[in-house]
Amino acid sequence: MTTKPWSLRECCENFAAAGIPHITIWRNVLEDIALEEAVKIVRDHPLSVTALCRGGFFPSVEASKRAEAIEDNKRAIDQAAALGAPMVVLVCGADPGQSLTESRRQIQDGITQLLPYAKEHGVKLAIEPLHPMYAGDRSAVSTLGQANDMAEAFDSEWVGVAADVYHLWWDPDLEKEIKRCGAGGNLLAVHVCDWKTPTSDLLLDRGLMGEGCIPLKEIRRWVEAAGFDGPHEVEIFSSTYWAEDQQDYLKRVVQAYREHC
Ligand code: ZN
Repeated sequence: MTTKPWSLRECCENFAAAGIPHITIWRNVLEDIALEEAVKIVRDHPLSVTALCRGGFFPSVEASKRAEAIEDNKRAIDQAAALGAPMVVLVCGADPGQSLTESRRQIQDGITQLLPYAKEHGVKLAIEPLHPMYAGDRSAVSTLGQANDMAEAFDSEWVGVAADVYHLWWDPDLEKEIKRCGAGGNLLAVHVCDWKTPTSDLLLDRGLMGEGCIPLKEIRRWVEAAGFDGPHEVEIFSSTYWAEDQQDYLKRVVQAYREHC
């Protein structure tokens, strides 16, 4: 998603050429090609797939939509299994037509329904808490504490948490909850970018690492102390950067990662 204008092939070619060893694949790049073709593209490059993004969006006031979401999440698990992605990241969802408590109950129920399918396909489900500014319609899970509560309630190696600094950096309990997440074996993924001030768009104005106010190195120390040894994924949604030359931008991404993460 960081280089959204690129196709899967362009991402793979350019990431590999830049010496980036991992890629998380968003489902938008799979829309116009057959899954077998996507698998071949990935295999032709020296990249391991970190995750498939994204599943989730379980809650709805309509039962038919909740059922559709389960089917869509199963397709995401199929895609992840084919691409060799060890997990599907869940943006859990929320429906403004009902309470957050009810949305969270439906998220729990959705994951419960998916879990056997995920396990059967060898794909983990990573609950990603989103900043509370998205609680209205994107995620009723807003803090790492809530995500930990949910993951721990499943008590399954197939359910864990994705910690994204953009969503969590403000939380006074962050260090404590990262520790808890790691100790429980639930810390599956770490996403990095930066929080710009002022932020001009709540979705599409994430900053390059070092451009904002997130203490990236401090948070990295916390996740490593919690036992996380997986890739630190750069995940920047930015209509500004997507409008620029993606080759130049990718160089800046790599440089920002090396300097600030
Ligand atoms: Zn993320």
